[in-house]
Amino acid sequence: KFLTLEGVDGAGKSTHVDWLVAQLRALGLEVVQTREPGGTPLAERLRELLLAEPMRLDTETLLMFAARCEHVHTVIEPALAAGRWVVCDRFTDATYAYQGGGRGLPAGRIAALEQWVHPQLQPDRTWLFDVPLAVARERLGRSRDPDRFEREGQAFFERTRAAYHARAAQAPDRIRVVDATRSIEAIRAGLREELAGLAGG
Ligand code: C5P
Repeated sequence: KFLTLEGVDGAGKSTHVDWLVAQLRALGLEVVQTREPGGTPLAERLRELLLAEPMRLDTETLLMFAARCEHVHTVIEPALAAGRWVVCDRFTDATYAYQGGGRGLPAGRIAALEQWVHPQLQPDRTWLFDVPLAVARERLGRSRDPDRFEREGQAFFERTRAAYHARAAQAPDRIRVVDATRSIEAIRAGLREELAGLAGG
């Protein structure tokens, strides 16, 4: 199965991704843990450019999908074909949220690239870690050097979060909104139940 984690920066998804993978491995599953942008040597180099260099929105979006193309075809699909589980920190929903919602790229452009790069592949489950912007900003303030995206203003993240919510409303079976203001233990209890369901079904 293909599982993804999403959310605005500071929602806390990184806190949960390692734990999630450990839970699945404890169930005896073979798991590939990966992230976007990145996940292959070339895609990681594209990530460095994406996070550091100012660039046009179209360029940014095309590089995201160039990285994703490598990642999907050399890592994700082969792993799934071999019966492994894949847990990915961000995927195409992030492009709808950040480049679409945050920066205003029409969703149709993103849909066209999605259709080109991975017409068949969708996550089986996506967790959207959701917190109010004030909480996200507070958490980010305590973290390492901000990248090019993390330096964006409040309005950018409000639009990004709203676009994530719109995605979740369109695909309620796939995308589960996780109230990430709760305690880590409460969040994990909910995730544990869902994992049992996914592993059983
Ligand atoms: O999740 P992570 O912090 O590793 O993501 C790296 C950065 O790339 C984040 O700041 C995120 O906002 C940005 N990003 C983006 N568009 C995507 C995926 C990630 O702007 N499609």
